[in-house]
Order: sequence, then C-alpha cells, then structure tokens
Amino acid sequence: LYSYRPILITGGAGFIGSNFIPFFLRQNPLVHVINLDKLTYAGNLENLIEVENNEHYTFLKGDICDEELVEQIFDQHKIEGVIHFAAESHVDNSIEKPADFIKTNIRGTFTLLEAARKFWLNSIGQTRKGFENARFHHISTDEVYGSLGATGFFNEETPYAPNSPYSASKASSDFLVRSYFHTYGLPVITSNCSNNYGPHQHDEKLIPTIIRKALANEPIPIYGDGQNIRDWLYVIDHCRGIDAVFNKGEIGQTYVIGGNSESNNLYIAQTICSTLDDLAPKKGDSYKKQIKFVKDRPGHDFRYAIDATKIKKALGWQPKESFDSGIRKTIAWYLNKYQKV
Ligand code: NAD
Repeated sequence: LYSYRPILITGGAGFIGSNFIPFFLRQNPLVHVINLDKLTYAGNLENLIEVENNEHYTFLKGDICDEELVEQIFDQHKIEGVIHFAAESHVDNSIEKPADFIKTNIRGTFTLLEAARKFWLNSIGQTRKGFENARFHHISTDEVYGSLGATGFFNEETPYAPNSPYSASKASSDFLVRSYFHTYGLPVITSNCSNNYGPHQHDEKLIPTIIRKALANEPIPIYGDGQNIRDWLYVIDHCRGIDAVFNKGEIGQTYVIGGNSESNNLYIAQTICSTLDDLAPKKGDSYKKQIKFVKDRPGHDFRYAIDATKIKKALGWQPKESFDSGIRKTIAWYLNKYQKV
C-alpha cells in the first residue's frame, strides 16, 4: 500500500503522542504514521497542525477497544510497527472514575496485542513473511513501581507495586505486553518513563495548572505540604528516548526513561513562578505569593526517581534539557498560547 513502513501510533492526539509524531516523522523519513485516536477530552487535533498535510501521515478517529476496527487497520494498512500511547492518563480522574481506565488501558492494550498477534504471527507462532522487523512498543509509566522512600531509584528490576487505579491499569497492560512476548513470541518492547512536561499538555496536569493559575492571578494549588517528589523529563527528551527504543531497543526488554531531575512539587511551583517573574513580570509582586497548599490526594505516592543507566549504556540516550531549561521553553510556549486566545 505504502512504499514507506506503516507504523500505527495510538493516542497520537494527546500530550506526548502529539509531540512525538512530528519528531518521529522528521527522524524517520521512511515511515508512514497512522494515528488512531478516539479524541477523548484529552485528545486535540490542533496539536498536530504541523503534520496534518504531511503525505506520510494519516489520522483515523476510533477506539483502541474496537476489535473490528483495529483488525481492519492492521489488515488495510499492513501495519509493521505499533507505538502505543493511548490511555486514560490522569491519576485524579482514575480515583473519581476508574472504569474508563480499566477499559482503555487494559482492554485496549489487549485488543492491540491480539491484532498484532493475528497479523504478524501464523497459526504455529512463526513470523509471517514481510513482518520480520515488526515490533510493538508499549509506552508506560514509572508509577507502576509504587512509591520510594527518601532514598533509592526505580530501575528495570524494581518489583511492581502500583497504588492508584491509573498505575494499576498501566501495570496490568505492562504484564499483558510481557506475556505476549513470553507466550507467543510477539516482538514487544516496553518503556516506563517518569513525569513529562512541555507543550500540549492538558490543562488538568500539575505544570499547566500552575502556569495557568499564576497568569490568571488565582491561587496556585499544591497538594499537602508540597514535599512529594517526582522525576521530571522534558517531553522532547522522552520522544528521543522512544525513538531510540523503538528503532534500536532489544525485543522483549523494558527500558526505564527518566530526567535525572528530581524535584518536589513546591520547588516546581517556585521555579515556574520565578521563571514567570522573569518572562512575564507582574507589577509589584512575585507570582510566588499565589502558592496555596490544599488537601492532599488520597494514596499520593511520596517519591519517584529513576535510574536510567540501562538506556544510557545500551542506546546512548540521555536527557538534553535540565528542568530549568525545559521549563523555560515550556513557559514560553504557554505564554504564546495564552496570548493567542
Ligand atoms: P494524554 O491523556 O494527554 O493523551 C491520551 C490520548 O489517548 C488522547 O489523545 C486520547 O484521545 C487518546 N485515547 C484515550 N482513550 C482512547 C481510546 N480508547 N482509543 C483511542 N485513543 C484513546 O496522555 P499522555 O500524557 O500523552 O500519555 C501518553 C502515554 O504515555 C500514556 O500511555 C501514559 O500512561 C504514558 N505516560 C505518560 C507520562 C506523562 O507524564 N504524561 C509519563 C509516562 C508515561
């Protein structure tokens, strides 16, 4: 059908996917991207304006849980690779309304794995002709490992201990992906990444909320005492990591990806405020005065931190942005966005 390698990207209209697709097309001139996205509240095609007329890009609106549709896409487009982003991704929503997380994150991943198995392997589990280089890259999170105390790091050997319905649903999907490698020999690969930030992130998430509230001169809400620690990675660094894992990673392996940039939530809010003080100064006062502590989220994990030695050694990947440089780019993007509205 295409003279280029057809790659199915799921959830490409979301935050990470919409940063990834233009990047991936630039890095891989011989691919054709088919973006399957249901366009839930979290998906936005405006994030993909840059590629909408690219002849190596096709958008399909649909649900990854729709077995018939997914099989039809594999068949019609002769899919040779999958990069699977589609998920319900907001922890607070998973606490309020877990059902969608179970459906999309678990059932949806299962539906994609089954389609890949049918199209890439024959009835006795051998690779079908033409699919020798096929691979299924599952995008996951470090939240599957649960919470760390003040010391230690997550790596590929860390036992799973998910604490929210979101992380439990992602952990389940990781296990399904793993089982398709061990049981059927499906060429899968998984990456588990720390918290991302950057352009296109949905307003509901921590960093866009801090920027938006600061600019609206409203209280900036910080859970608990602001001491919860996350590792933060600029989204384009994650995209570089995914591209490396998809193209050069070893089948059946997992890779943790992290920013080597641990910060607590209070530090994040203060850094955003001081960067805004610099880029968009407010008359007379610092944005920091707007920071306000609010009741903590139930089951709030204390600390996540990543030891990304494996991907660094095996694939030569490491982050290019520090938090300070990445947040400056991010804030500049949001300032531009809000000025346009
Ligand atoms: P997002 O919520 O911004 O985007 C999710 C996308 O998936 C949206 O475009 C949505 O429309 C689509 N989608 C949802 N349900 C669907 C369905 N049933 N069928 C088809 N499309 C559907 O999420 P994100 O932050 O871009 O995260 C992408 C992936 O990366 C997720 O799997 C997430 O678990 C993982 N991840 C995210 C982070 C992070 O910090 N954001 C960190 C590590 C891993």
